[in-house]
Formats: sequence, structure tokens, C-alpha cells
Amino acid sequence: MPRSSRDSRPTTPVLWLPEMDGAWQFRHRAHDVPHLLQRWRAVARAARLQLSVIHEVRGFPVYFLTSRLVAARPLYLSAGVHGDEPGAVLGLLEWAERSIAYLRRADVILVPLFNPAGLSLNIRLDSEGNDLNRFFDHPSHPHITGWRKAMSGFSPRLAVCLHEDYDAQGLYAYELNRDATLRLAESCLSTTDAMLSRDSRRTIEGRSARSGIIRRRRLPMVENLPEAVILYQSGTSCTLTFETPSEFSLAVRTRTHARLIQAACDWDATSGIS
Ligand SMILES: [Zn+2]
Repeated sequence: MPRSSRDSRPTTPVLWLPEMDGAWQFRHRAHDVPHLLQRWRAVARAARLQLSVIHEVRGFPVYFLTSRLVAARPLYLSAGVHGDEPGAVLGLLEWAERSIAYLRRADVILVPLFNPAGLSLNIRLDSEGNDLNRFFDHPSHPHITGWRKAMSGFSPRLAVCLHEDYDAQGLYAYELNRDATLRLAESCLSTTDAMLSRDSRRTIEGRSARSGIIRRRRLPMVENLPEAVILYQSGTSCTLTFETPSEFSLAVRTRTHARLIQAACDWDATSGIS
């Protein structure tokens, strides 16, 4: 006789997350896009966020959420640009569901699932075969057109872009920061060291890394730019891109993303950035 998952939750919640149905059996709904969008609508209602649809693809809406108090230089949080990175998508959702009171008084933009068609298919690319994170400088791409239109008038003070990487050997981050004295990625990653080890490689994705952090102040003039670089070029003071290792436990990756978002928000609330 099958046991009820509700009766069978482990007493030691090492791998248990309440938002994952039957997590004790390691079954999840990380690629069930209608289910995830329904949960985001519930977050929007509870936190009084304004929900806009900036694009539709294969019947899936791309949500863009703004808080009631959103101003010209908000905090910006995004996930799901790549469809095979469910830990990032679930991490942002889990964090939001537990941060309703914060979201009601925050100055924030959320783009929680940029590539819903890709997530439903569990592929990195969109349904047309494009890597959307190489299209943010292509304003004629319909996906990017909708995003740019929604972002007009906004220049985030701090942007957090959530990703995962199949080649990663641990957690790592990119930091683009105009202030060389700030060590924001280090501040965030130090809160998750007990949850997920850092990628210790000295070179990651062809770039010099130290303690899992790739820092840059200046950008080469290249094409096919990602979201974080376009935001930085548009005046964002600091962009953080967190990359969890895709081959590690989904529950750990999800929890790590949620913790990293919280760390960035805590830093934003206490130290501030203009
Ligand atoms: Zn990615």
C-alpha cells in the first residue's frame, strides 16, 4: 500500500522542502509551468504586486512583477532565463512565498520565469532554439522587446540574476560592481558556505576566479550580451549572477538560491547602494 507523503515526511529535513510535493520521494514539479505560474499569482495577490505579461510564448505568459512602492532605482531579481535551471526558478519562488511582508514594503522588480517554454521542455534555449541570455542586446527579438519596454524608466540599484551551470563544481558568482571597495558577492556567498561548497577552480568559464567569485568592473565591447551586462550598461550599480551546480541536489540548489537572495536583500536593506 502506498504511503501518504504527508505522513512520511522525514524528521530530519535535510532534503525536505515544503513546496515540493512528495519531496521525500524526490518527486517535484520544477518543470510544471502552469503550477509555478499559479503560485506566482498567489504571491502577487498576497504581496500586492502588480503583475504584467511582457510576452507570451507557446501559450505561456512571461510575468513581470513590480511592488507597490517601486521607484526608478529598484532592486531587481530574475530567474529562468535558461529553461534547464529549475533550482534558480524554485529558489526565487520559495524565497518570495516566505517574504510576503517584505515584498509588500519593498522597492522591487521580479522577473521570475523568463523562459517558461524552455523550462517546460527542460532545455536551456527557448522554443525557437535561441539562448535568450545572448539576446539582451537584440531589441527586435520579441522576448527582449517586451522586457525592454517593461524596464523603460527603471535602472535598478542592484540586480540579482539567478542561474545554474552543468559544468560547475560548486557554487560561484559573477559580480559587476562600480565600487571596487564593495565585496557584495563574497558577503552573499559567505551565508551559504555551510549549505553548498564553492567552486574552487581558479578559472571558471574562461575567467579568473577567486573563492568562487568572478569580479569585473569594465566590460569588453562584445555582442550577444547577457541580462546582467545589459543591466550594468544601463546604469545598475551592481549586478550579481549566482550559478549553482546543476548536478547537485535540486533541494540544496533551491535552498541555496533562496538564501542568496535573502543575503542580497539584507545587504541592500542595511548597507544600501545608490
Ligand atoms: Zn543560465
